[in-house]
This record gives sequence, C-alpha cells and structure tokens, in this order.
Amino acid sequence: MRYISTRGNSESREFKEILLEGLAPDGGLYVPEQYPKFTDAELDDLRGKTYQETALNILRTFITDIPEEDLRGIIARTYTKEIFGTDAITPLKHLEKGLSLLQLSNGPTLAFKDVPLQLLGNLMEYVLEERGSELNILGATSGDTGSAAAYALKGKKNIRLFMLSPYGRMSRFQQRQMYTLNEPNIFNIVVNGTFDDCQTIVKEANADAEFKKKYKLGAVNSINWARISAQIVYYFYSYLRLTKDNSKRVAYAVPSGNFGNALSAHIASKMGLNIEIIVCTNENDVLDQFFKTGIYRVLKGNDVKITSSPSMDIASASNFERFIFDYVGRDSAKVRVLWKELNQKREFDIGRIEPRVPFGITSGSATDAEVLDTIRIVYKKYAVVIDPHTAVAMKVGLEKCEKGVPLVVIETAQPAKFADTIREALGIEVPAPKGYENLANLPEKTTRIENDAELVKKFIEENT
Ligand SMILES: *Cc1c(COP(=O)(O)O)cnc(C)c1O
Repeated sequence: MRYISTRGNSESREFKEILLEGLAPDGGLYVPEQYPKFTDAELDDLRGKTYQETALNILRTFITDIPEEDLRGIIARTYTKEIFGTDAITPLKHLEKGLSLLQLSNGPTLAFKDVPLQLLGNLMEYVLEERGSELNILGATSGDTGSAAAYALKGKKNIRLFMLSPYGRMSRFQQRQMYTLNEPNIFNIVVNGTFDDCQTIVKEANADAEFKKKYKLGAVNSINWARISAQIVYYFYSYLRLTKDNSKRVAYAVPSGNFGNALSAHIASKMGLNIEIIVCTNENDVLDQFFKTGIYRVLKGNDVKITSSPSMDIASASNFERFIFDYVGRDSAKVRVLWKELNQKREFDIGRIEPRVPFGITSGSATDAEVLDTIRIVYKKYAVVIDPHTAVAMKVGLEKCEKGVPLVVIETAQPAKFADTIREALGIEVPAPKGYENLANLPEKTTRIENDAELVKKFIEENT
C-alpha cells in the first residue's frame, strides 16, 4: 500500500515513511492510494474474531511494509486487557433494543484517543529502533491529546515528548492526570498563555528548519494516518458483533471535532461495512453546517466557543480535507482550488447539493443546555452516567436515527474526567475510576514557561 497526498504534488510513500511525518510536502494530507475492500465472505470470516485478530486483518491492509509477524506482536502488546480493562478492548454496552454505547474510553487516560495513540507509540518505537534514530515529539494540548500521548509514549525507547499546555485551562482531572506522570522521557511544559499560543509555539519551532532537523522534531497530531487506521478497527469489530450478516445496516453517532473519528467511519464504509454515519458537533458546528449546506466555513480562533465538551471545541476540522478529496472523486486539482479559496476567504462552497443526505452522512449539533438534559435523561432511563462529549452524540443520534436501524452511540470519554458538568446535570459526584483514586495526592512534574518559542526551544536543547 502506498500513500498519496490530497494535493497531488508529492511523491507517494510507504506507511513507515509517513508514520513520523505530519503534512505531505505539498501541504496536503496523506491518504491510501486506494481503499482496501472486504467482500461479504471476508467480512463473515472476521465475524467472531477477537479485537486483536480483527485489528491485524484491517491494519495489515494499510501497513504492508512491516512483516506480518512483527505487526501481530505490536498489536498484541498494545491491545491488552491490562491496558484497556476488558478483553473486548472496545466493548458494546447495550442500553435497550436498537441502542448501545460503543465504549472507547477504557484506556489509561479514560478517553478514546488512547485507542489510536497506544498503537502509535509502539509503532514509532519499532520504526525508530529499526532505523537506529530518535525523535523529539513537540505538541500542544488543551485536553485529552496531551495525556493520551504521554501515556502512549512513556518509557518508549528513543522518543521524548515535550507537551505544551495552557496554564489553568484544562479540567482538574485532565491536569492531574497529565502533570503527575513522572517519567524521564515526558516533559510537561505549562505555558503562561492560551491553547492558541501553545500551537503558535509549536509552529514557530517547526518553522526553524535547522532546529527541527538538529533536534529531530516530530508530531503525533490528529492528522497522523496511523491514528486514523487504528480507529477503523473498532467500527469493523463492533459492526460484526452486532450483526449476523452484512445486509443489516447499523448507524453510528460520532462526537466530532477534528473529524478523525468520523473519517475512520467513512473509510470503514468505503471498505465494505454497511454503516451509516451521523456526525455530531457541539456549538462549534462547522461540520454540521457543512453537511447541511455544502458550505465549509471555519471559525476565527476568538469565535470558538468554550463548551462542556472541550475536545470538540475546534475552529476547523484538521482531517476534513481527506473527506473532501474522496467527495470530489479524488481530484487533487479541485482540492487545491478549494483550499486556496479557504485560505483566502475562510470558506468554500462545494456547490449544489442534493436534498437528502447529500454526502451519505447526516449531522446535527447540541447546545450545552441540551447536553445537560441528555445526561439527565440517560441517567434516569438507563442508570448510566455519560460524559458531555458522548451526550452530544446521544442527543443528535437519537434525533437523526431512522426507525429499524440500530443506533450505536460512540462513548469517547469517561464522566469522571468532567466532574463539574456531571455535578451540574445530576447533582452527584462521579467516583474516580479504579486506579485513579490517588491522583490528587501524587506530586506534579511540570515546567512553567513564559509564552515564548525561544524559551521552549532552549528547554528542548537542555533536555535532549
Ligand atoms: C478528540 C475527542 C473527540 C473528537 O474526535 P475527533 O476525531 O477530533 O473528531 C471527541 N471526544 C473526545 C472525548 C475526544 O477526546
């Protein structure tokens, strides 16, 4: 399998080559040259297989430059009951006939990003060892990405992680979880500034070509192809568990921000799964607006609302270009025109769209008030506490689902991470999950730094 750029002006590459890279040199995103297809017979063969076997069968179609036995070992080390809490890794929780939760948040940081990032950490370690080289990952986080990356990379050989976070802006649980990780290769840099400031520092450090080369800077952000491919697995695994044959349709309500998770569902459907996708956004509804009107209009940084589902508070959706590439028939010239327009006018219009479900994708959004209501309704009806991100998907999913099509709502975080919202909705304290009771008493390992890229670069120099 080779990977091409959505903008069409970069050489095609293999999986291991794009693993450690961000954007393609022409500014586009890497996508597989074509999507692997599974026939009904092949899908039937996968039905009943374990998570690990399913993962191997999906991932070996995308990762053709790592020997299958090695890939099997990497998957076996990544998706364990010890790390993800259950043998099913991503279990389905039945709520009532035709309605279930797909639980993606049982990993070490209690959010769905563990599923792709735990795999990415092991893949990176494997490739760096093979090459005899090392990597310094520089990233910025406002919430789940930072801790998921830290728990995925801790103790990994030849990798250091420098993670910038804005001072005092994450939930208490998120801060404690990330800052108490005491590992020699993980550096928490707390910046006196906003998340945007942190992102600007990352951009500036990467723009210094000499520095980037000398300190072997890398990234683990949401456009990383390995992350997308790892997320395709749980759509196959859950669909095959819910159905007896492939004629049955299943709808997935996906809480969406950067469009990584929903893109993985879109690719799973292109690969042969009979699924419907419902894209669910909070009040930052650029994706919902697009799927309703065909107009993609990104927000200015200042216009991004702070909601109770912070991991979906985005100004633009970084993976969206991959979807548009498919929509325009994989015509890179069209993608280049659209993104040029986007850079100039902050929006593009894809043109006339058909009246109903024009993209094979339905969408909707939820306000913070609706999120609170939904948390209450679900608790009352099923005695289950869901987090605000999952509540966005529950609200929109129930609104948009069709009669007779089973609905799977994707659970992307545990409620304990967002205790304030749960208290507001239900008036109860969610107990800390097992193993996290002591979080409040652990010492923190952080470095506080002024909002200045030069100081961050100096810190990296001193610690490599
Ligand atoms: C990252 C995240 C999302 C959004 O996923 P995307 O792939 O960026 O669309 C939703 N919920 C939680 C809890 C997350 O951490």
